Amino acid sequence: MTGLSLENVSKVYGADDAGTVALEGVDLTVRDGEFFTLVGPSGCGKTTTLRTVAGFEEPTEGTVRFDGREMAGVPPEQRDVGVVFQSYALFPHMSVAENVGYGLQFREPPDGLSVDERVAELLELVDLEGMDDRRPDQMSGGQQQRVALARALAPAPDLLVLDEPMSALDAQLRESLRRQVKRIQSDLEITTVYVTHDQAEALAISDRLAVMNGGRVEQVGRPQEIYREPATRFVAEFVGDNNVFDGEVRSRDGEYARVEVDGERFTLPASAGTDRLAFCVRPGALSQSVEHNRLTVSVETSEFLGETVRVNGRWNGARIVLQLPAVPERDELTVGFEPDDAHVVDSH
Ligand code: ATP
Repeated sequence: MTGLSLENVSKVYGADDAGTVALEGVDLTVRDGEFFTLVGPSGCGKTTTLRTVAGFEEPTEGTVRFDGREMAGVPPEQRDVGVVFQSYALFPHMSVAENVGYGLQFREPPDGLSVDERVAELLELVDLEGMDDRRPDQMSGGQQQRVALARALAPAPDLLVLDEPMSALDAQLRESLRRQVKRIQSDLEITTVYVTHDQAEALAISDRLAVMNGGRVEQVGRPQEIYREPATRFVAEFVGDNNVFDGEVRSRDGEYARVEVDGERFTLPASAGTDRLAFCVRPGALSQSVEHNRLTVSVETSEFLGETVRVNGRWNGARIVLQLPAVPERDELTVGFEPDDAHVVDSH
């Protein structure tokens, strides 16, 4: 098993003075056997980070290490990394078995197995027994992606990297493949770096995740930490659809501070740092039955989600999201939140 670190990694594509800065001072540590996800909007540098780990790109600055070993100048084929891309990138003229066995021409199968035995083992692992002779164009997207996963795992790499492997699949297939990937990863205990722009997927699948924005890492943490304690405004809004308010502390009294937002006063925990601050409140923390920190929201749209209803509305002109048990009957409603459900964020 392998741990991985990136230290102050920057990447500029093209000439230095006119190039595109894709990564800026990225520091990350991925632990042995961990499922680690890079999540963020399009263009934030997720794929570049992954390609730098796999050795397809060299960083302009900084160091990538596998278990402490510096990787500068080590070509991809010597890094022991299994790679799965968004497009399945299977060899179309080869059978499933030939695709899965491809990497075993260059590296001996593990555990003294023959190529055929190793291919059979991998096809069983991804639930594709008996499909050996199919060609990729005779399979569904989800099946093709499982072949790609089996192919990446066949040489028993130290590290697995997956770049948006589900993005071409429909929602239902995505969910079942996600569960399967997670099960296989935890059975094999293989250190995995996974890229997605889908925050719900990142929260569901990861041991820890890094939220990226504009070539930088905004926050690293476990899913619950990122969701409940976002460090920055960006993380609060990108992960979990938090409502973010800008306010000014007007007074402090023991455990609590009074904070003014758009002429209205709210009570927050007194730990609320500086006098000007931003804080977030999760949609689910805004409830009609809470008597504190009341605000009246004008309802714009309601989306029925089964167990809950997502309500998009406005408060003093600002967009606000609520999560309610039922579709509101009026186009205006008053909700409140407990002081301890407000979380102060870095507002850069
Ligand atoms: P997406 O979710 O859209 O795949 P991403 O987060 O993976 O995006 P990257 O593909 O890493 O982002 O791109 C980061 C930045 O680097 C973007 O501005 C992109 O346009 C730029 N970039 C990526 N690859 C190259 C390249 N080969 N040459 C020049 N610029 C590039």
